[in-house]
Order: sequence, then structure tokens, then C-alpha cells
Amino acid sequence: MTTPPPAAFTAAHPFDAAHPHAIAVYCSDGRFTQSVEELLAHLGHARLDTVTTPGGPAVLNHMSAAYADADVNTRAATFLIRAHHITEAVLLAHEGCGYYRAKRPSDSPEMILARQLDDLRHAAKALRRATPALNVHLYYARVAAGVVCFDPVALEKPRT
Ligand SMILES: [Zn+2]
Repeated sequence: MTTPPPAAFTAAHPFDAAHPHAIAVYCSDGRFTQSVEELLAHLGHARLDTVTTPGGPAVLNHMSAAYADADVNTRAATFLIRAHHITEAVLLAHEGCGYYRAKRPSDSPEMILARQLDDLRHAAKALRRATPALNVHLYYARVAAGVVCFDPVALEKPRT
């Protein structure tokens, strides 16, 4: 075994050449990152492919993002799913998302929540259209008593 050349930093975590079987699509907002990773580990996904962009699943829906952006992000996620034979996808939105506040400054928190839930479902449909065998799980993250709580979101909008 040859000794690797000296590096400025060497990670302790061993490299695993096998691709994970799951992908997570969520917002870049670093206030939620560790909690999201904790949820995903709890769901059995210690390793993941990720698509993290401001707004998370919002950028897979042309109703919330520009057409070109929605196209690029949907194709990016679809590439990973196909190339890495991914079978599970977890899509997450979060409370107080700056992407929505910037895009919809006059919307109430209730209107933004409704938009986020629509975007989650739209993103799920877009990914399943491209890869029909994909299992998709949706979550909404909110802050309560200083911790992040996750509520599952139904794939279909409940009839009221
Ligand atoms: Zn966000």
C-alpha cells in the first residue's frame, strides 16, 4: 500500500465508493442542515446524494422558480437518480424560508406555507415522471421550543 501524499487536511471519515440509494432535496439554509441530516439518518439514510439550493424543492417548480431554473434543477436531480440508481427521495421545505419571502414579499405566512406544500407535491410529481419507480417522501420542517420538528406531507393534497 502506497502512502498518500501529504494534504492540508485529511478527513477521518472513510471513503465509500458505493453510491447511496437515497437523495435529499432541501434548502441551502444552514440553520436547518444538521437537523435535516439527523432526520435522514433516522429514516435510515446515513449517506445521501443531495440537491441543496435556496428554496429546496421550490426550484423544481416553474410556478415558484423561473422556467429555466426549474428545468435545470429537475434535470440535475433526475441525473443523480438515474446515474446512481437511487430508489428513495426525501424532499423538504422549511418554515421561514428566505427564498419564498424574497419571491413573495406581500404573501402571508399561510399563503407561503400553501405554496411550499404545493411545491413539494409538484417536485415529487416531476421526479416521479422522470423516474416512475422512485419512492418519494415529503416533509415540512418547523421550529418549536428551540428545535426543528418535521411533519410528513401527503403526496396528494387532502380534499377539504
Ligand atoms: Zn430556505
